[in-house]
Amino acid sequence: MKGKIIACHECDQLYHYEPIAGSGKASCTQCGSELYRHVQNSLDRGIALYLTALMLFILANVYPFLSLELGGRVEENILLSGGLAMYQMGMPDLAILIFFTSIGFPFISIIGMLYLLIPLRLGMVPPAMGLVFRLVEAINPWSLVSVFMLGVLISIVKLQDLANVIAGPSLYALVGLLVAFAAARANFDPEAIWEHFDYQSPDLSEPERLMNCHTCGMFTCAKPGLEECPRCEAPIHRRKVDSITRTWALVMTATILIIPANLYPVMTVIRFGQGEPSTIMSGVLHLIEGGMWGLAMIVFVASIVIPVMKLMILVFLLVSVQNGSKWRPKDRTVLYRITETVGAWSMVDIFLVGILSALVSLDVLSTIRPGIGASFFAGVVVVTMFAAHSFDPRLIWDGANPQDDNRVSE
Ligand SMILES: [Zn+2]
Ligand SMILES: [Zn+2]
Repeated sequence: MKGKIIACHECDQLYHYEPIAGSGKASCTQCGSELYRHVQNSLDRGIALYLTALMLFILANVYPFLSLELGGRVEENILLSGGLAMYQMGMPDLAILIFFTSIGFPFISIIGMLYLLIPLRLGMVPPAMGLVFRLVEAINPWSLVSVFMLGVLISIVKLQDLANVIAGPSLYALVGLLVAFAAARANFDPEAIWEHFDYQSPDLSEPERLMNCHTCGMFTCAKPGLEECPRCEAPIHRRKVDSITRTWALVMTATILIIPANLYPVMTVIRFGQGEPSTIMSGVLHLIEGGMWGLAMIVFVASIVIPVMKLMILVFLLVSVQNGSKWRPKDRTVLYRITETVGAWSMVDIFLVGILSALVSLDVLSTIRPGIGASFFAGVVVVTMFAAHSFDPRLIWDGANPQDDNRVSE
């Protein structure tokens, strides 16, 4: 691996690759993002953790999840119930979103990683390796087991005064899955799966052809006409294509969607035949009236503060990049990183509506139905996540160091 050159995926600073002894990570000195990490026995650890996650995943889907006891009646639910309830109540868009982010994507991610890791550990290269790797990388930001778990906890607290909530074995398996999944991702060293790949450092004399693969992190010199990564076959570009225009379009769409998301009810609580629609804000106020301050804060931050803050940060970044601003590029990169990481937590509201609708369906006594506001809100969350993804943080640095001449830092 001597002489290998890599580029920071957030600011394009070039570095000589230095192997790390033991476990650790190397960070970019310019913008602070992680350049690469080294995990000892990464393949073995990955296989063990993903197999554990797979077993827990099966348990979480087979056993009862949450049960609701009210007036002698017990309503039992499985993990799938949240998405299913949405579908039965005529909201297939939310059903699909909940199903994939809480069950479908984590499952594909676990299976995909095992598909890559097991043959590689045995010294074989799995067929269509690049395709599977790209698939796993693409769905990772959308595997939201931890956000789903927060939704479950909030539902349990919220329902306490209405009925008795009983946690089933599936809930414990889900907690285990959350831990195993997080550990598996933290112990994954992406370079470990590409060890068989014969690496050649690119020729630095053609700077306009130098590209960093956004999916697998390979720094390469693209051949004319063949702009795909030689390692994972993802399309590569010097900068994300039409980053500014696309991000602006998505930011505008999300801003428009915020209005109906807040005006229309996200759910309706029907008690003894009486409907009581609640919007995001009235839901928060209701929690405050009930003395549940902590919960009110979580819902308020996740469903109002985060989406608005995210859009404001993206607008600020877009304007600063378009003006060629030199102002604090490192801090602006940190702001970008925040919008990328916190965005998914807004999904907690959608999970909450799904779980509550599935749990509280005791016909005459009490029913919770999703409202159209939830669909608009889901739109806001999904569109802002795409907006953050389409923004290219390297544009911040292009403005900050205009005559960058591919210097290589040690
Ligand atoms: Zn950097
Ligand atoms: Zn690649």
